[in-house]
Amino acid sequence: MKAAVMHGARDIRTETVPDPILDPHGVIIKVKACGVCGSDLHVYKRDGQDGTIFGHEFSGDIVEVGSQVTGIAPGTRVTAVGFKPCGTCFWCAQGKGHRCSNMALLGYQFPGAMAEYVHIPSAALGRNVFPLPDELSYEDAASVEPLSISYFSVNRALPKENDMVAVIGLGVIGLYAVQVLKAMGVAKIIASGRRPSRLEAAKICGADIIIDAAKDDAVKAAMEATSKMGVNTVVECAGMQATFDQSIAMARGGGKIMLVGIYEEPLTWDPLPAIAKNLSLIGCLGGNFPASIELLKSGKVSAKPLITHRFSLDQAALAFKTQLQDPEAIKVMITENEPWHKT
Ligand SMILES: [Zn+2]
Ligand SMILES: [Zn+2]
Repeated sequence: MKAAVMHGARDIRTETVPDPILDPHGVIIKVKACGVCGSDLHVYKRDGQDGTIFGHEFSGDIVEVGSQVTGIAPGTRVTAVGFKPCGTCFWCAQGKGHRCSNMALLGYQFPGAMAEYVHIPSAALGRNVFPLPDELSYEDAASVEPLSISYFSVNRALPKENDMVAVIGLGVIGLYAVQVLKAMGVAKIIASGRRPSRLEAAKICGADIIIDAAKDDAVKAAMEATSKMGVNTVVECAGMQATFDQSIAMARGGGKIMLVGIYEEPLTWDPLPAIAKNLSLIGCLGGNFPASIELLKSGKVSAKPLITHRFSLDQAALAFKTQLQDPEAIKVMITENEPWHKT
């Protein structure tokens, strides 16, 4: 089959690789759409990941089902999550593979969905393989994974309707966080980012106040928007020193900081303001596929304003280059037989 294979830093080539081998507990999916993720870019920029086939935000049709798998039929349209417990750690030894401390992830430690076919090990309906309602296109379904992260992170903050919430960092996760907050009926959503195309998208996603952090002081603007009170919750999706500092500064007393963005560098910080304001710093790593599928199905959340570019699998190298370098790119999709065009 064809797959996009990494050969070193910023070097992706579409080439022929062996077809996936069906495990008795696995399924094989013919891939229809697969998003390029920010997490993929972290790896793509570094050297030393030869042979990696990325792709964990995807959808497609079930084509083969292992002999031990029940309830999943060929032909079903699905999205899926892939992980493989190590089998030897403390948790695995107790039969609790879902808590494995050396979990291998689809699209990193084993081949992902930037290929014609992808194998999902230990397939179980409703646990890691999710059938798609008719309302969801394959591209919608390939957006469930990033949306599920935003949903999980926002939901962990338990925002109330009268809350003022700031979302910092308007990549896909931040923009879905804005949409989820809007769907929850949160009173005031402040969105802070730097790229014009993403500020525009934040408006479409439902943000009430847009801060152009490239031009304006984000903390000052957030304080002005909240009558100097600060926000109840910050959803920090950028993962940088500056945005972390802004989060601490714009949170009101008793506020929550949801740490969602992945930090490429360690932080230097003075914890005193967090102590003095009784802030809660909450790490967020998780997803909720069923809730995200429901949100897309209901139309309360839409993937459309976020998908800016489409490429074929043969154009995978260009897809990565675009996601990394094009200031207009929000979510780049690799889709089957779709020529390049901008939505
Ligand atoms: Zn992702
Ligand atoms: Zn383990």
